[in-house]
Amino acid sequence: MKQTSVFRIDLNKIEGDGDFPCPSCGAIISPDDDSERVYKIIDMETFEDGSLKNLSLLCKKCNSIIILEGFETLRLIDG
Ligand SMILES: [Zn+2]
Repeated sequence: MKQTSVFRIDLNKIEGDGDFPCPSCGAIISPDDDSERVYKIIDMETFEDGSLKNLSLLCKKCNSIIILEGFETLRLIDG
């Protein structure tokens, strides 16, 4: 059985508008793309106040799991 790779990405280290390449296959994951053609959201964790803590995505090209972290810092910046 093929083992699923899990990658962690810190949103604060992503430059630009939030797009980033899949660490495994290089497919561009765009937060604005909700077509689920490249990736789909498989899990999310929230803080007690309901704000986003992290997001688990499945890359549909290579079946890697990508965990996006660092939402809490973005929230602080947005004010
Ligand atoms: Zn991939």
